Amino acid sequence: MTAPLLLWFRRDLRLDDLPMLAAALATGRPLVPVFVLDDETEALGAAPKWRLGLGVAAFAKRLEAAGSRLVLRRGDALAVLQALVAETGAAGVMWSRLYDPVSKARDQRVKAGLREAGIGADSFAGHLLHEPWDVATGTGGFYRVYTPFWRAVRGRAVPAPVAAPARLPAPAVWPVSDDLDAWRMGDAMNRGAAVVSAYVHVGEAAAVARLERFLDGSVDSYDVARDLPAVEGTSGLSENLALGEIGARRVWHAAWAAFERGGAGAETFLKELVWREFSYHLVYHSPHITTANWKPEWDAFPWRGDSADAERWKQGMTGEPFVDAAMREMYVTGRMHNRGRMIVASYLTKHLMTDWRIGQAWFADCLIDWDPAANAMGWQWAAGSGPDAAPYFRIFNPATQVEKFDPKQEYRKRFIAELSRDPGREALAFFDAVPRGWNLSPAARYPMPMVDLAEGRARALAAYAARGGAG
Ligand code: FAD
Repeated sequence: MTAPLLLWFRRDLRLDDLPMLAAALATGRPLVPVFVLDDETEALGAAPKWRLGLGVAAFAKRLEAAGSRLVLRRGDALAVLQALVAETGAAGVMWSRLYDPVSKARDQRVKAGLREAGIGADSFAGHLLHEPWDVATGTGGFYRVYTPFWRAVRGRAVPAPVAAPARLPAPAVWPVSDDLDAWRMGDAMNRGAAVVSAYVHVGEAAAVARLERFLDGSVDSYDVARDLPAVEGTSGLSENLALGEIGARRVWHAAWAAFERGGAGAETFLKELVWREFSYHLVYHSPHITTANWKPEWDAFPWRGDSADAERWKQGMTGEPFVDAAMREMYVTGRMHNRGRMIVASYLTKHLMTDWRIGQAWFADCLIDWDPAANAMGWQWAAGSGPDAAPYFRIFNPATQVEKFDPKQEYRKRFIAELSRDPGREALAFFDAVPRGWNLSPAARYPMPMVDLAEGRARALAAYAARGGAG
């Protein structure tokens, strides 16, 4: 029983509500927590990679407070784990499952490789409320539409979260660890890191505090406030859920209790959590959602590729204030309000007729809450090419969206310096965060709209009609 177990952490940077950890503790063996910077992790976009680095640092501290450590190693995951097994005499390796195709391919290879070498390899639930294969339609298939999926999940028992242990049993000798700073996970953020740092809530304790604050307050007005980008009316938990700094099951149970206490808005919040679940259900059952039109009939649609227009969209310089405010919010805070995400995605794919994958990749570079499943589903939903998507002909009009969701124009004032006589801190911070090569200045004139909204809409609809309605 002195042979330790390796716990391979990835997007589950927590000790609470972690089935893998409960199973490992039950063996009575010493535990060696490990984080591997492999090629798949190296390939992350600038902001998610930087944020992961912060998460790893916080998690290492959390482990130290529990009498343990986080061993950091760099290289191919299978090779690193095999080497660590050899060094420590470990009896096996455990991890929490991931479901996106890139992680799945790696994990299958690692599992097969370890087992071939006679090393125990076990994966566990923990990232989701339910395993994607446990929720099935009456005929045993997977859900393609959200509402029936919600009905199927709503009444389903979610396993109760297991509380974090006070201490983790340590091995007699610790393997050496890399130095996290030497990995330079924030390098690609350049100037942005200093700006976005003010907005991150890193680690397990911060995530729990966020959940409690939300359920004690904003949840009551969530139904309405969640749509208002100038209001802090949502939980903000996506940043933490993306890295598993809080477990979805813990969030579900807490929100369910709020719902049972009659907390207005709690059911809507539970539904949003189930949107996350739905995105993973889709990614697991139709992995092409992350890279190709989910509906293949969209392959013939004349999407535009990268262009000067798309570049202006990325730079928050379209001249359409709601779009630009949202794009700048992402650059300054590392996040974007959900209403903003829907509007900028609609604008890019419809008014600019640009391939949704260009927007998906830009979000994957800029969002601290980047999630492979939610991002892919969100983009395909907006473009019309995805399951249960917004029909292509339903085109958000950013101007009328402002009237409805930002009537006092607070959101645009908050993030667009050129539209204000006395721009605030966040509006100015945008210019400190963006690459110098963009040559943007708060003193410049705000651009005229690059596309007339009516013309852009008509062009998109004509292209759609020419294909006989691709969707
Ligand atoms: P809350 O309103 O407090 O919701 C609670 C949780 O429910 C969220 O943290 C999130 O985990 C989940 N959730 C809420 N809405 C959605 C949704 N529409 N789809 C899936 N899960 C949802 N979310 C990400 O986490 N990462 C992404 O990379 C991402 N990319 C998106 C791209 C586009 C084009 C669109 C339209 C949406 C995207 N979303 C993404 C979904 C959504 O915008 C965010 O989850 C939400 O804004 C996060 O804020 P919050 O944590 O305050 O959410």
